[in-house]
Amino acid sequence: MVRVNVDFRVLDEAMESVLMVSRELFEEGLVKSTFGVVSARIPDTDYVVITPSGFRKEKVARDNLVIVNLDGEVVQGNLRPSSETPMHVYIHKKIPEARCVVHTHSPMATVFAILEMDIPCFTSEQAHAFEGRVPVVRNYSYPGTTNVEELESIVEALRKSRVALLRKHGVITYGMTYDEALDNAVIVEELAKSAIFAFLLGKPQELTEADIEYMREFKRKRYGQKPTSRP
Ligand SMILES: [Zn+2]
Repeated sequence: MVRVNVDFRVLDEAMESVLMVSRELFEEGLVKSTFGVVSARIPDTDYVVITPSGFRKEKVARDNLVIVNLDGEVVQGNLRPSSETPMHVYIHKKIPEARCVVHTHSPMATVFAILEMDIPCFTSEQAHAFEGRVPVVRNYSYPGTTNVEELESIVEALRKSRVALLRKHGVITYGMTYDEALDNAVIVEELAKSAIFAFLLGKPQELTEADIEYMREFKRKRYGQKPTSRP
């Protein structure tokens, strides 16, 4: 086994961040038992840090993390990487700006995955976060799939919304930062919960395309902090 030749600080940040996201997912109740996967592309390399197979996320330690290449081959680490490694490396390969990829079976969002139904865009929050519906991936795939057509359909859904529902399985999302990947996993669960209650209590109506476009514009122009200009 070779140890990867990567700047120590860069590798350190990627590993610590994967551990941080894993712990936060557990704290948020989005991953239970040994389910759920976190991976991170090590910047400026073709390597990915990924959580090991069969480990509870709150118990994963730095020595348990595995480094794989974009073909999913282990290049560093003593444990087997997640059984979902083929999906994670495929996403990292096809969406290079994805710093962190998160997979959960968070229960409310999984209700929509079970029903093979998009999460409708009922709220301005959803329009703000995901710019519309949270889509179901076109193809059904078995967990751990290596089928390229199935993997491609997962990437296609993620390109639409950065978060997608794996049919009869769970949630897949990515972020350009670790916080964004984590937030997406948290927010999709909250939105799914609100949508389920809305269906239980009445007949909710989706936002119109114009409403969604307004939120896109709002996010672009009026939300968050302006970058400070430094002399
Ligand atoms: Zn899964």
